[in-house]
Amino acid sequence: MRFDLLTLFPEMFPGYLGQSLLNLAIERQLVEVAVHNIRDWARGKHKNVDDRPYGGGPGMVLSPEPVVECVEAVQQMDSRPSRVVVLTPGGRRFDQRIAEEYSEEQRLLLLCGRYEGFDQRVFDILQPDELSIGDFILNGGEVAAMVVIDALVRLVPGVLGDEQSNKQDSFSSENRLLEFAQYTRPREYRGHQVPEVLLSGNHPEIAEWRTQNSLERTRQRRRDLLDGNEQSPQPADNS
Ligand code: SAM
Repeated sequence: MRFDLLTLFPEMFPGYLGQSLLNLAIERQLVEVAVHNIRDWARGKHKNVDDRPYGGGPGMVLSPEPVVECVEAVQQMDSRPSRVVVLTPGGRRFDQRIAEEYSEEQRLLLLCGRYEGFDQRVFDILQPDELSIGDFILNGGEVAAMVVIDALVRLVPGVLGDEQSNKQDSFSSENRLLEFAQYTRPREYRGHQVPEVLLSGNHPEIAEWRTQNSLERTRQRRRDLLDGNEQSPQPADNS
């Protein structure tokens, strides 16, 4: 899968791309990431990419020309079909279902805004997907793009050491519930014991405990997730 990141702050990405799972995925050529500076498509001596808003008001708006021309040029850089995604607070709220949907794509162009955001004609001309990572305002789309990549990379086959961990993760397509409580050594810490069943080696019983624990945690913390799930929870697979 290829990600093209379109940004005014390309220097924000190398540190992130060089870390852990993502770095490994890039090294193994399971994932490819290219970072492009929108300013390279700006016109004029000063390479301006923004201007004051028509109608007045605070801040600066990203001009349509460098943004649209940057997207069009980057689309031509690879033969794979690309889906253009603009990170914007007004977009569809990102979640695991959208991550799964996007993970089927061969290539995503992630367009990061800054300042007061994009001139509306960027949306009118490019007709992109619009994606928000939540109901709050970030300073720029770069962190939102990292969130999207982070969630998608886990779904690319071969990236996780154990494909099973995807399936038991919270929100995963297996059951859309919260994951069960996890424990590791020691067996007892400050008077808190690991549940006996997890030490038993009895895998059917462990699977049943995890299913019930997952349901209970979801009921307590995220009742909204149980809509449509409560009648037919999928047992956790511990094989
Ligand atoms: N004036 C804009 C508004 O009220 O919708 C906010 C602009 S924000 C300061 C600058 C950029 O950060 C946006 O263009 C977008 O790319 C990014 N951004 C901010 N919040 C975001 C969010 N919740 N999800 C995705 N991107 C976000």
